Amino acid sequence: MKNMSAKLKLTLLTSSLLTLMAVLIVALLFLSSDIIAQSSSRSQVMKVVENNADELEYEDRRLDTDDIDFFKNGVYTLLYTQTGTLLHGDFPEEFSEQPPLMNNTVTEVTINETLYYIYDILAPVEDHSDLIWVRGLIAVDEAVAAYNTILTLALYLLPLLILFGTIGSYFIVKFTFRPIDKMIKTAEDISLSKDLSLRMNLESSSAELRKLATAFDNMLNRLEGAFESEKQFSQNVSHELRTPIAVILAQCEYALGKNASEADRLEALEITNKQALKMSRLSSELLKLMRLERGIEQAELSALNLSELAEIVCEEQSLLKDKNISLTWHIEDNICVHANRNMMIRLITNLLSNAYRYGKDDGTVTLRLSQGDERTELSVQDDGIGIADEHLDKIWQRFYQVDGARSADEGGSMGLGLSMVWHIAKVHGASVEVQSVLGEGSTFKIIFPF
Ligand code: ADP
Repeated sequence: MKNMSAKLKLTLLTSSLLTLMAVLIVALLFLSSDIIAQSSSRSQVMKVVENNADELEYEDRRLDTDDIDFFKNGVYTLLYTQTGTLLHGDFPEEFSEQPPLMNNTVTEVTINETLYYIYDILAPVEDHSDLIWVRGLIAVDEAVAAYNTILTLALYLLPLLILFGTIGSYFIVKFTFRPIDKMIKTAEDISLSKDLSLRMNLESSSAELRKLATAFDNMLNRLEGAFESEKQFSQNVSHELRTPIAVILAQCEYALGKNASEADRLEALEITNKQALKMSRLSSELLKLMRLERGIEQAELSALNLSELAEIVCEEQSLLKDKNISLTWHIEDNICVHANRNMMIRLITNLLSNAYRYGKDDGTVTLRLSQGDERTELSVQDDGIGIADEHLDKIWQRFYQVDGARSADEGGSMGLGLSMVWHIAKVHGASVEVQSVLGEGSTFKIIFPF
């Protein structure tokens, strides 16, 4: 039963249920056949007697019996004078004597183990003062026998009924399972061909199966996205490492050459050191980002005075005097958010160092922190190189760098800073925004909802 297909299982269950129901119905009919036959015989005899009584009439001073049915539907009819003399009709042979007439009463008489119902009424005759007794008589056992014949027939028809039921339910189950077969086929195709772009696309199926297929398709969408980004990620990492490794190898070869002077070797060592530092920074930044992305770095959030924190970071940053940029800050006092302190430091530092890196010489960078009715807004504005519109929605991706950004600062630029900012904001339920005009500057905003 365990390894049986669901289709077969359902068919077997439905046909068993069908058989059980059919057997129960027939058994019930058998058990109730006596009662049904008796009550139907009783009403049958009464009906025939009453109908015949309505047909009584005199014609040419004689009782006209042309319209009387003396034997109908198993009912014998007899007519008597008001004083009880038999006028018309015959009793079945078994009756040796006639039971007394009793108006409007069904009498039960058993003769030779056969039960009879006898019904009498004293009926008026149309246009005549005489009353006539109309008597009806039916053998109940005959009715039971007729009933049993029908039941026997039903008993023979029962297997046929079950057979048709089983075949019918098999086709119904098969039809119902068609979408599931399609889902199995798609899943098998995906695992065989490793093609994650395949989808179930069950449009014309029942609501539940459509829901299941849509959930499956959505899961495939996410999986495909995740695989794609993993692929992209490894390509980016190997691309990022290729340049410093090539530089290190070339410098080593050069320094180890016979003609290299002491000064050349020193220079090669410095370049190697710089590239190694770049690789080390890349790996540690990557590690931090991965931990954030995969939720390994658990953000312990607590009430944080963002005003104080932003001021400290600004003060430290302003000591750099990079490109002679002047950093100013406008921070409302005591703005508190539910946040992780280290992550917030990383977020503000990344935004400020970008503003410096892509800012112009002698330019200005401004940090603002303010609180409105529904949100807390942190913004960093610079008057540097700006970003063209077509790059604005891509700069949050890992390793994405606008052309020329590398030339701004070869050493620190890795295309990971904004990705980190985006993830930190996400962890805090905040959203990110950027406005920028090429050649005029950019404003990055982090918006914390209440
Ligand atoms: P990177 O390490 O290259 O700075 P980021 O993820 O921090 O990486 O930024 C991605 C890209 O977005 C940068 O390469 C740069 O082209 C652009 N960008 C970021 N901040 C600014 C800014 N303040 N002004 C102009 N361009 C910026």
